Amino acid sequence: MRRPTLVPWLVLLATLASWSLAHAPPERTEVPPCAYGDVVLDVDHLQGHALVLLDTTYRLPDTPDPSDLVRVREAGFASDHLVRAVVIDDLRALREDAEAAGLALEVQSAYRSFAYQRQVFAGWVERLGEAQARRVSARPGHSEHQLGTAIDLRTAGGPAPWDLADWARTPEGAWVVQHAHRYGFVLSYPAGEEARTCYDYEPWHFRWVGRELAAAVHDAGVPLRVWLWQHHPPQALP
Ligand SMILES: [Zn+2]
Repeated sequence: MRRPTLVPWLVLLATLASWSLAHAPPERTEVPPCAYGDVVLDVDHLQGHALVLLDTTYRLPDTPDPSDLVRVREAGFASDHLVRAVVIDDLRALREDAEAAGLALEVQSAYRSFAYQRQVFAGWVERLGEAQARRVSARPGHSEHQLGTAIDLRTAGGPAPWDLADWARTPEGAWVVQHAHRYGFVLSYPAGEEARTCYDYEPWHFRWVGRELAAAVHDAGVPLRVWLWQHHPPQALP
């Protein structure tokens, strides 16, 4: 029996392999692993606040207080924490709808300047040591609170949310985690995403990016850091 020649088949296989490599879908842009750095962003953090990627590497410079800060009291809260005016209508709507569901929220923290974040971080270092502080708090310039669009929420009359095992297991926390995106807020540091967000789970920390972007991030099912890397990767100052 004549031995079939393999050469044409091998040529065909090689051709198919190279074709499929050339036409394979591009690999999904994944977020880089968490690392500690101090890369200053080249960004308009006021006008373009929603697309500012802040993590353990990228940070803002020491920026002046935004000129449009208003008290969260204007959204019906009982405290005088500050947020940028662009946040206030959605923050009020969120609070009112929570209240209509029988849930009372309070703001634990909102705008924090570069200098104030330095104090906050130093406080966590004192309490937990440097390594653990970096898991639960941002170094100055790296905090979303410097944007004036991030808030920490808690149950009215309750303890600081980080003093609970999981605020999302309280009725207030569960409601906010479930509904915040409808009001333009994203949960920046979801449970189980520590390797991609670079911070421990924070069920109380929400950043306002507007309803359209919040819906897109929610639908994508990825943390904001991942979504921003995929759509608006950070640009460092030259
Ligand atoms: Zn926060």
